[in-house]
Amino acid sequence: MRSHSILLLLTAVLVTSLGCFGSCTTLITDKNVHSPQKTLDQRQYVPFQALQHAKIEGLDESTTSLQDSELAIPVGPNSRRKNRRDITTDLDYRCGEKYGRCPSGTCCSSAGYCGTTKAHCRSPDCRIDFGNCDAHKTPKGPPTREILRPHEGTVPYGPQQIRSCAVPGTVALTFDDGPTRYTGDLLDLLDKYEAPATFFITGINNGKGAIDDPSLPWASLIERMLLSGHQVASHTWSHEDLSKVSPSQRIDQMLKNEVALRNIMGSFPTYMRPPYSSCEPGSGCREDLGRMGYHITLYDVDTDDYKNDSPNLIQRSKDIFDQALSSANPISHSWLIIAHDAHEQTVHNLTEHMLQTMARLGYRPVTVGECLRDPRENWYRKDTSWPGHKKKGPKKEFPPQVSIDGTCGKNFTCLGSSFGLCCGSLNVCGNSSNHCGSGCQKNSGYCAVGAPPNGDAWDPNLLSKSGRSEADSDFRAAASTAAVTSLLLALAVALLM
Ligand SMILES: [Zn+2]
Repeated sequence: MRSHSILLLLTAVLVTSLGCFGSCTTLITDKNVHSPQKTLDQRQYVPFQALQHAKIEGLDESTTSLQDSELAIPVGPNSRRKNRRDITTDLDYRCGEKYGRCPSGTCCSSAGYCGTTKAHCRSPDCRIDFGNCDAHKTPKGPPTREILRPHEGTVPYGPQQIRSCAVPGTVALTFDDGPTRYTGDLLDLLDKYEAPATFFITGINNGKGAIDDPSLPWASLIERMLLSGHQVASHTWSHEDLSKVSPSQRIDQMLKNEVALRNIMGSFPTYMRPPYSSCEPGSGCREDLGRMGYHITLYDVDTDDYKNDSPNLIQRSKDIFDQALSSANPISHSWLIIAHDAHEQTVHNLTEHMLQTMARLGYRPVTVGECLRDPRENWYRKDTSWPGHKKKGPKKEFPPQVSIDGTCGKNFTCLGSSFGLCCGSLNVCGNSSNHCGSGCQKNSGYCAVGAPPNGDAWDPNLLSKSGRSEADSDFRAAASTAAVTSLLLALAVALLM
């Protein structure tokens, strides 16, 4: 009985130290931090000729706020135990404002505990000022900071923000936070409706690994977006709040995603959306993004899909969308919609409804660039010094076609298909160990035994249903509270036994 109690207690401490899992489902996302309804008229566009060919100031600053070597031993209640470096078992080792940073190489979880698991290190929950995080990883290849960033075209760059489309009769569907395990299905659907959309890509969020990691499926999905006529835009490297991080961290968030996207596309986007739609005046965020040559892209219809990711709730998002589109005439109006391909109901339910509503009401699906009358050549900046990812690097050559019937092999890949990402020995796509383990065909999909290092973006059993892909700093407070509560509850149970 006593050992059982101790086991229970240890389990509780473990759960608490990692923050909260399934029970902690505070859903906070790209909120309307700013009043969203102001329409941007084409005539308000101001050319930024004066800034053309200007280099970005401040980019020489250290691009990473914390290097492993700089991580300090924490101070506080546990400091006398600083010689005990096996932090993965030292589960009550705290971090945060009160306690300081975690020891070198360990991450500070959202609930303020040091550790090395994916749950500790995954961004954006991981606390970047108090330990190592996925956010601190750097994509390989030459930096992009020296690339000139002229403000081409008539669409405004930062510090102005774009909240709406300019071409009547169009709807720009936008999807944030991907690619994820749902993105292949979304691309299938958009192909079926021949509907261009815009993807605001996050480089390394939610433990999914880096988008340019050749052993992961994300780069192939981004390539497929381009081939299908979608627009690829930036949603930062690790989904930090750009109003709350330091200026160098903010620039770092953009530059790292540029490098990773350049490694995939040979160029990087000029359009971006700040995580949580947060780029507050006074923080310097809007000016920094303007100097970096970015269009700050918000929206005028928030589907609230992150709050409604269940079959019972998603109707609310459909209603929001339908009511917005029905409120005006496509002859004179257009819409800029935000949704997230990190959510199952968005991909498997809401999006088809939106496409059908658009068709019924007479709206045409377009990319953000198209709805602003911005020529495609202005959507990206080419890195002319980059010889191209196909010539360099270990990237795999995949068969050209995505499986359409679940079979795979010589001519068809499972990457980007809706049947699973691994091609098993029987030439069938799937995600099980039968497909991804022994006999898996590396040239026709992803191969790894067990869950690959890409978190809930892959594994349906790991956190994905909590909607934490959009967790922000408010979530951190909720996480701490829930963690304390779960610890107290577990203590009470253990004592009772
Ligand atoms: Zn986001």
